[in-house]
Amino acid sequence: MRAARFAIALSLVVVGLTGARGQSPPQPATVTLYEGARLIAGDGGSPIEDSAFLVERGRFVRVGRRGEVQAPLTAARVDLTGKTVIPALVDGHSHIGYMKHLTSGAANYTRENILDHMRRFAYYGVAASHAMGSDFGEMPFQLRDEILAGKHPDAARFLTAGRGLSPLSEISPDNMRQAAFPVTTPEGARAAVQELVPRRVRLVKTWVDDRGGAVKKLTPDLYGAIIEEAHKNGLRVAVHATDLRDAKDLLRAGIDVFAHMIADVDDELVALFKQHPNTSVLSALGGPHRAVYAPWLNPVHPLIIETVLPDQIKRLQGRFPQTDPEQRARSQAAWDRLARGISRLSAAGVKIGVGTDGGGQQGDQFIGWTMHAELENMVMAGIPPAKVLVAATRTSAEILGQDDLGLVAAGKSADFVVLDANPLENITNTRKISSVYLRGTRVNREKLRASFGS
Ligand SMILES: [Zn+2]
Repeated sequence: MRAARFAIALSLVVVGLTGARGQSPPQPATVTLYEGARLIAGDGGSPIEDSAFLVERGRFVRVGRRGEVQAPLTAARVDLTGKTVIPALVDGHSHIGYMKHLTSGAANYTRENILDHMRRFAYYGVAASHAMGSDFGEMPFQLRDEILAGKHPDAARFLTAGRGLSPLSEISPDNMRQAAFPVTTPEGARAAVQELVPRRVRLVKTWVDDRGGAVKKLTPDLYGAIIEEAHKNGLRVAVHATDLRDAKDLLRAGIDVFAHMIADVDDELVALFKQHPNTSVLSALGGPHRAVYAPWLNPVHPLIIETVLPDQIKRLQGRFPQTDPEQRARSQAAWDRLARGISRLSAAGVKIGVGTDGGGQQGDQFIGWTMHAELENMVMAGIPPAKVLVAATRTSAEILGQDDLGLVAAGKSADFVVLDANPLENITNTRKISSVYLRGTRVNREKLRASFGS
């Protein structure tokens, strides 16, 4: 009797303390034990068969085998026997808020459209997606902070590099780089980085690409100033650069993240990555591969039917895969080069995360779906499924500086996906989604699905 009274008193004290700290939004103090699933924790280790994990106040608190994880008698229990659990996925590179049905452009860029995209990501089991330099104004930062504070429980985390930093020649009214800071001098580059600092971006985005000789690309003195100023302020820099020579110069200049795969990986590039072990690559294989491989368009995968309107699907079917033999051969060659390169970098131990480059100006990439297509692309390029899952969870989270995400482990945010089949056997099993949990709460996918049709 005395012990029981003591326990009640203690729990009141705990509740009182948490409330006083006021760090997180109010949540029901429920504890839930999830039992029986095969657990792929995201750390690259063997899966835990017949696992159990305890979730309290939106976080994993204990993770292990069924029978070995202690839970309070009052804990709710969810039986996941026969299912596989993975951490919710993390997309390191996307362009959010531009696409809307058949159109794509700055006119669509509203708070409502960004939220719609983040709900689509949630539907697909993606915990966070990082917009790479296509955001503008103060609204995206406000919305990011609202979502991170838990105010939109059915939305994935919207992360943003804010405005990218681009040479004038890259900016035109009909592309997303209209959002970017034009960079013409080292002083101007530093000032642009300074504008991003108080907005708490983690990655600064820039472009170094002559677009096949069509534009003047950012020069080394300018990207050098961007990198130096970012590092001075504790920020990191992600670059769009696919040319081998540029990639080598950027590695020497201290670049942190490549937002795309680099063409024609050679020994010197691998050696430079080994000298810069903290520099990572985001995959972004979707664009090149879709041109030659898109079986999910014929027949259309059910997940796409659930989230995309028919005329948008039809438009992409008309475009991909390519049928013109010459164009197709060129696309196949481009894909083969990228695939060889990424599997070589992966085998050499280079840190590889997943970026989808979804939502881009072509307007034909389906938000959320691109993540699952990308996982298949990486496996087809020769990276084993277990490694691909680590790339899409822990490593992507690490690249984005999101310590809370990417792992099913004690202390992390309880963001996970329950699958009907094992993705280690076939990576396309990540599409067999039974349920999605963000911050410990089950996403109402039925309700979301109903909203996608409008
Ligand atoms: Zn991009």
